[in-house]
Amino acid sequence: MALSRVFVANRGEIAVRIVRACRTLGIETVAAVSEADRDSMAGRMADRMVCIGPSRAADSYLRPEALISAALGTGCDGLHPGYGFLSENDRFAKSCADAGLIFVGPSPENIRLMGNKLEARRIASENGVPLAEGSPRVLSVQAATEIASSVGYPLLFKAAAGGGGRGIRIVRKPDELAAAFGSATAEAQAAFGDSALFMERYIENARHVEVQVLADGQGTVLHLGERDCSLQRRYQKMVEEAPAFGLPQALRQGLYDAAVTLARSIDYRSAGTVEFIVDVDRESFFFLEMNTRVQVEHPVTEMITGIDIVAAQIRIAGGEPLALRQEDIRFDGHAIECRINAEAPKRGFQPSPGKVLEWSVPVGPGIRVDTHVEAGWVVSPYYDSLLGKLIVHGRDRADALARTRQALAELSVVGVDTTAPFLEHILSHEDFASGKINTRWLEAEAERFVAAAAQ
Ligand code: ADP
Ligand code: ADP
Ligand code: MG
Repeated sequence: MALSRVFVANRGEIAVRIVRACRTLGIETVAAVSEADRDSMAGRMADRMVCIGPSRAADSYLRPEALISAALGTGCDGLHPGYGFLSENDRFAKSCADAGLIFVGPSPENIRLMGNKLEARRIASENGVPLAEGSPRVLSVQAATEIASSVGYPLLFKAAAGGGGRGIRIVRKPDELAAAFGSATAEAQAAFGDSALFMERYIENARHVEVQVLADGQGTVLHLGERDCSLQRRYQKMVEEAPAFGLPQALRQGLYDAAVTLARSIDYRSAGTVEFIVDVDRESFFFLEMNTRVQVEHPVTEMITGIDIVAAQIRIAGGEPLALRQEDIRFDGHAIECRINAEAPKRGFQPSPGKVLEWSVPVGPGIRVDTHVEAGWVVSPYYDSLLGKLIVHGRDRADALARTRQALAELSVVGVDTTAPFLEHILSHEDFASGKINTRWLEAEAERFVAAAAQ
């Protein structure tokens, strides 16, 4: 059944993105807004908005009952969860279905299976998808010590329920084990209400490469190629690009096959992303996790494939089979995304909430800005500080890079600090241009940048 009115259970740039996708499909929208978001762009763009509670996310965007009753009360037949918040909560997806609302995303079972990293590792391993050496759930420092002596250092503690880089701790030598176990357990409990940890061998010279999949739940599972998201700070992505440069063709094909196999093995439906670590020195790859939602960085894939991933999610949710075949998907040129956050990079990336006095974004060939910000908008301290994403397409990587640098230089934001000065530094860096990067490179650059600013 095609959807006729979709409830947007999210905020910020992704809420705007969902409203736009619905509009192109001729579907009405109702935007959920918290008190802090009453004047939001998504609220204004949607056909209607409903206030679902106070500013704190726990009192609004994270309240399943409030969202579902608002969606039903406004006559919606579908609900799009966006990313973050309740998007990967299988009970919420189930509650939507029970209430007669179509959840624009995978089945509750898909979400449940991939939401637990230990379960996901088990399924990946059963399907021949390579994994980094790791452990089952680790219950004590004693047990961790024994695992560490067989897996070897360095290694990571990871939260089984993890996401957004939380609950991850690196351990380089035995005397760091106990403290890392304690802090990862506490962080996992606080962030996910689930303290379960496991251990995984840490790959020092690694790239984060992920594969976008699209599946209709009716037998068609496609991949839309890969993205490189190695530029991270605190395990969070900051710059992403598609395709991943310099991968041997066999490795690239191996990633595609693994992603499609995994999605197929759980009868996956909707858009999803299978994340991998590529071991640069050994030219091998390992499964990390599957994100069962639209991702922040989905636009770089849209830029090189011409496929509207959010619209595809909505059509699939409405029961439409994918009309595409794998051979129809073509990759054209190169795209780079920069996340523009309200943070002060020169002051250690401190949050910088407040009123945006001026917001002027670049335009030009191949340039796309996904944002909910405009002059006068007040950046609230309650939520993730993402102001927008600058996405630039070029005929090849060098061209995309040059255009991104130019576009960043044209971005002008007054009133709040943004990550743009640091992004300009990164995009002008010789190591980035020549591809001499790994998942630790940006963090080190960030430290140097902060230190230089403090001089
Ligand atoms: P993605 O995998 O889509 O690129 P990330 O890995 O950056 O997104 O983040 C994972 C999830 O955590 C996303 O759904 C995002 O909304 C959320 N998130 C990202 N950054 C933060 C943050 N600083 N605080 C809270 N949640 C965040
Ligand atoms: P999350 O659910 O928080 O996104 P992931 O398992 O996707 O957690 O890992 C987040 C990031 O941590 C990765 O993108 C990568 O940079 C780093 N990482 C995770 N596992 C490993 C590993 N085994 N070796 C090296 N880096 C890793
Ligand atoms: Mg991840």
